[in-house]
Amino acid sequence: DVPTVSAAELVAGRRAYELDRRHVFHSWSAQAGLAPMTITKAEGCYVWDGEGSRLLDFSSQMVNTNIGHQHPRVVAAIVEQAQKLCTIAPSHVNDARSEAARLISERTPGDLDKVFFTNGGAEAVEHAVRMARLHTGRRKVLSRYRSYHGGTDTAVNITGDPRRWANDYGDAGVVHFFGPFLYRSRFYADTQEQECERALAHLDEVVAMEGPGQIAAIILESVPGTAGIMVPPPGYLRGVREICDRHGIVFIADEVMSGFGRTGRWFAIEHAQGGDGESDPVVPDLITFAKGVNSGYVPLGGVAISAEIAASFDERTYPGGLTYSGHPLATAAAVATITTMAEEGIVENAARVGAEVIGPGLAELARRHPSVGEVRGIGMFWAIELVRDRATREPLAPYGGTSESMNTVVAECKRLGLLPFANYNRIHAVPPLIITDEQARAGLAILDEALEVADRSR
Ligand code: PMP
Repeated sequence: DVPTVSAAELVAGRRAYELDRRHVFHSWSAQAGLAPMTITKAEGCYVWDGEGSRLLDFSSQMVNTNIGHQHPRVVAAIVEQAQKLCTIAPSHVNDARSEAARLISERTPGDLDKVFFTNGGAEAVEHAVRMARLHTGRRKVLSRYRSYHGGTDTAVNITGDPRRWANDYGDAGVVHFFGPFLYRSRFYADTQEQECERALAHLDEVVAMEGPGQIAAIILESVPGTAGIMVPPPGYLRGVREICDRHGIVFIADEVMSGFGRTGRWFAIEHAQGGDGESDPVVPDLITFAKGVNSGYVPLGGVAISAEIAASFDERTYPGGLTYSGHPLATAAAVATITTMAEEGIVENAARVGAEVIGPGLAELARRHPSVGEVRGIGMFWAIELVRDRATREPLAPYGGTSESMNTVVAECKRLGLLPFANYNRIHAVPPLIITDEQARAGLAILDEALEVADRSR
């Protein structure tokens, strides 16, 4: 009962490819050398390319199709909403938006009980920063090096990776700091405890040097994703919360990629809770989300807002809005996605398959392949860092760049039927959260074979 791609679909795919190369201007790319993969069809954990070959989607596209491709309940909810009411102005009330806001508020920690909807992650970051600046009356924003926060102006300036260099006029209000990352420690740390302590001392000093009274917000990904899935050591996020509290700084947790089950919890910041895993939560003031909220079936993002920050706009106008804030099709997809994930235990599945199959499987690959420098991750959120030399940790592709070796490894994965999420010298294993043990093992077996190429091309 494996679906196949028909001859007509293959012809349509070839025409799509030709038109794409003629008329479509692609994101983050030099346009001339591109050879993008055509996707003719998708279902569950699989996609089919322009040749009709099936690939196991270990990327979840942009780490967003958490519920898998074409989930019938989400597709049906979008169709049903389309037949009922396709669009309304953001000033009106509609059941899909109200219900989505309730379901999200119930899952965010603490008193983050109001939701401002956007069309995606970057817009969520723009609005979170605007809220923080208006709430505090301050301008500066501190964010991590090795981070990704989106492609719009403020978001790309906040981003701590080479993409922001393109924006050469910068943003005088943005300051970067180093977060904890033991494998490439900036703090000469040998243990996670040291790394945590020194990263917090460093942040404390950056805050002091920048003037606490001028800092509106500290924004960071609860688990940095695109920059390499660096799970923070225990105590780090709580320490950041304490620094923010001491100085009246707004703590923005960017959960665009890590939210909605990716780490085996609804939000990654829940891992920073007290020892029993339930009490004493670390509660940020704002959470930005997108991607997994409706698995990207219709563009949607937003900001979950604390009672205190929401109240600061009780009497004065919040100066911001979007035609499609809480769009009916997008929020209907969110309601169906969140409800289905809860009813089908999909977040629990991510935690279990990650802990029992993907994590140990990748650790085993690291034992066998000298090209693997480090394996790290949590839930269904894993990265392997490829190196030329384990001792020097020289990456297989430079930070911010590509290499022939990395390109060959990625091409080999695809040839063998695996679609990975690759970034610089890293391959991320970030499949849909519905993946089965068997599918996860099949993906690991392909990685095993592809890493032979990495070992040889060091
Ligand atoms: N923040 C984080 C943490 C992200 O991972 C991303 C997207 N990869 C964004 C923001 C931007 O989201 P979008 O592409 O939907 O604008």
